[in-house]
Amino acid sequence: MVTRHIERESRAKSIGRYYPSEIGNCMRKVWYSYRYPQQVQPELLKIFEVGNMLHGFVVEVLKSEKNADVQLLKSEFPLKIETPEFIVSGRVDDLVLVKTSGKTIIVEVKSTKSIEFVKEASESHAMQLQLYMHATGIHNGIVLYIDKSNLESKQFSVEYSQEKVREIMQRFRELDQLLKSGLLPVDEAKRDEKKQWMCRFCEYQGKCRKSEA
Ligand code: SF4
Repeated sequence: MVTRHIERESRAKSIGRYYPSEIGNCMRKVWYSYRYPQQVQPELLKIFEVGNMLHGFVVEVLKSEKNADVQLLKSEFPLKIETPEFIVSGRVDDLVLVKTSGKTIIVEVKSTKSIEFVKEASESHAMQLQLYMHATGIHNGIVLYIDKSNLESKQFSVEYSQEKVREIMQRFRELDQLLKSGLLPVDEAKRDEKKQWMCRFCEYQGKCRKSEA
């Protein structure tokens, strides 16, 4: 019943529309996901659903009258960055106003299996937040990690950097050009020690091994 309840049709992605949540992934994997879209496995959909539930809980906490120094301004709102060649579109989790300091902060919520191993914001999550800060003009951002098993949390500020945003947009540009030209990107995750873990969860391992385009 749970599987049936959460199953959904996978929609093919269109070249020219890209997502902040994906740009920190292995470039070759993202490229494959456009060329060879795959149905999301039920196990993965269930993991996403847990993430959604936790996000709902964080919204409740931020709205709670018991946390009077924090005010939730908006949650789950869309944003778009348009360039002549492509569009980047995403969804910001929460926009929070901290009343005591009068600061507005973007909060990107991520669930994690074990909070004790989280020591900093992951590169991919920080990239996502940089784009959100850039698109909204709100240059205060935190990634909030919340443990699925016990609701313990940790937060990490991400400093807005125009230089980082330029690098991220350049990554989108490369992805766009490689997709439009049909050229396969290098096997980025395999070549980078810090990203090799991504290969274990990659549904394109077979194609990647053969460098199949
Ligand atoms: S197997 Fe690794 S290097 Fe190859 S596409 Fe997947 S994540 Fe990238």
